[in-house]
Amino acid sequence: MKEISCKLLVIGAGPGGYVCAIRAGQLGIDTVIVEFGRPGGTCLNVGCIPSKALIHAAEEFEKLSHMASGKNPLGIAIAAPSVDLAATMAWKDGIVSRLNNGVAGLLKKAGVKTVHGWATFRDGKTVAVDTEIGMQVIRAETVLIATGSAPVELLSLPFGGPVISSTEALALSEVPERLAVVGGGYIGLELGIAFAKLGAKVTVVEALPRVLAQYDAELTRPVVKRLAELGIEVLVNAKAKGLSTKRDALLVETNGGKNGKIAADKVLVTVGRKPVTEGWGLEQIDLDMVGPFIRIDDQCRSSMRGIFAIGDVTGEPMLAHRAMAQGEMVAEIVAGHRRSWDRRAIPAVCFTDPELVTAGLSPEEAKARGEIKVGLFPLAANGRAMTKLGEDGFVRVLARADNHLVLGIQAVGQGVSELSTAFGLALEMGATLEDIAGTIHAHPTQGEGFQEAALKALGRAVHV
Ligand code: FAD
Repeated sequence: MKEISCKLLVIGAGPGGYVCAIRAGQLGIDTVIVEFGRPGGTCLNVGCIPSKALIHAAEEFEKLSHMASGKNPLGIAIAAPSVDLAATMAWKDGIVSRLNNGVAGLLKKAGVKTVHGWATFRDGKTVAVDTEIGMQVIRAETVLIATGSAPVELLSLPFGGPVISSTEALALSEVPERLAVVGGGYIGLELGIAFAKLGAKVTVVEALPRVLAQYDAELTRPVVKRLAELGIEVLVNAKAKGLSTKRDALLVETNGGKNGKIAADKVLVTVGRKPVTEGWGLEQIDLDMVGPFIRIDDQCRSSMRGIFAIGDVTGEPMLAHRAMAQGEMVAEIVAGHRRSWDRRAIPAVCFTDPELVTAGLSPEEAKARGEIKVGLFPLAANGRAMTKLGEDGFVRVLARADNHLVLGIQAVGQGVSELSTAFGLALEMGATLEDIAGTIHAHPTQGEGFQEAALKALGRAVHV
């Protein structure tokens, strides 16, 4: 059994862990990172990156199919396209492996030692790693837990055979003829829409009264409309009960207690993600928890001295960029810098069709704080959106009524994910409606919708 020691030990090389380790290495901290799988974690290997690759391929295919249908207004005529999903997946895998190598290279360049294997705590300062060449014991002054999250399994639909999680959905070599998606949250809809565009007959089963229930109904309306246009059937107030005896259909119970059957070759279960808190010796260190998550303070310190935790294992929002920002902060704290979590906004993007962006407070949250001004600018009045055939959607700005401080920004529309940067920056800089309205936005861009929404809230919109 080999033993090494270091100042900082990072468990998990997802976006939280690897960013922390790289920054720590840059700051001259003697750092070791342990990873069981490939560098990059959920996000790079089976999450953000592969899903966006599949979504892009599906969008391209759907555009071509639409052109081939002869119904497009652009005057382009082409023959019907076909798709070889195995080739699409091979392209996606190529991107993932380039990024895997990129992360490994950055860790090496920062002087971080990587140990491959599963880490288990022995005590608060000692971890044993089960590696290919035997057990490696690592002693560290400080440990960072960044073990991430895993898909939630339903008791009635255990993963296996036709029942798949997002991980298997992102590795299918053929487009299923009929796909049932259980759970109408962002992961289920992103993948459901992609497979519908690739030709699957998709049905979404959602237990709540509407899909994307964490967003307000005004914001999700264009997505719901598009689901119908794509032929995606949505069953709300419906519960998945299990597979049929022949395992070729999903059994569902709808609101009125009626039982139904949805014929399906694959059943994709996307009912949420759970923190990875088992199998690595949490019981040895007995940390305080908040529900299923590790409790952390505003410096990402756990209840045990010398142990930090970041990313999905610490709670919502389970997003890669939150994990990364926490990782960077923890590295600087370990290096002795004075840092604490002072971020105003964690923007969130839903890569559905059309896309959704939220940053800061929702309308409900903003109203709960006092009187607000709301400015909503429809993309139907935006020239750039019209040239991209993306008129369905809007940008909405919420601000305090008294001093016009911007509290929240939302958008829905084709390609609006790129506006998330401007939204985050405005909130982080403490912008007022006048700041946004007074910033010259390049023409013609969808970003002008942001300026116009601020102008609208001030009662002086120009283009509506
Ligand atoms: P993870 O990325 O989960 O990484 C944890 C790592 O720790 C894993 O590699 C795991 O192997 C390793 N590990 C765990 N335990 C041990 C152990 N004991 N020993 C050694 N290694 C261990 N987020 C976004 O912001 N944007 C998106 O567009 C987006 N799309 C998504 C799409 C899908 C389909 C999914 C599933 C997720 C998506 N997410 C997205 C969420 C995002 O992937 C996560 O929020 C992010 O990966 C969390 O980072 P993390 O570092 O906390 O953990």
